[in-house]
Amino acid sequence: MVELNKTSSANLSEEDLFLRLSETMEKLGVEFSIGYAYSPRPAAWSRGRHHIVLETPIQKGRYRRKAGDALCKPAEKFWSLESVPGAKVPTCKECLRRAELLASG
Ligand SMILES: [Zn+2]
Repeated sequence: MVELNKTSSANLSEEDLFLRLSETMEKLGVEFSIGYAYSPRPAAWSRGRHHIVLETPIQKGRYRRKAGDALCKPAEKFWSLESVPGAKVPTCKECLRRAELLASG
């Protein structure tokens, strides 16, 4: 497996990360919140993650998500996805990667 953790965002603090994310989403004209998804397999190594959940639909090229979907996956692909009021920092790397892709593309 290729190591994907060493992206440019790896050195940013959580606050920086959130600021950058907010800017990105603002540029895209998309509202978002943070949602927590439990892991379907509650093993110690696979705890739930905080995802970027869209408040407004997005479409960019072939990429499409409805309101209520996470950036990484549509809502129906989650076992559960609950919004977390007050949560700011997504821990889902796939969501973050997708946000960067959207911002750069
Ligand atoms: Zn995600």
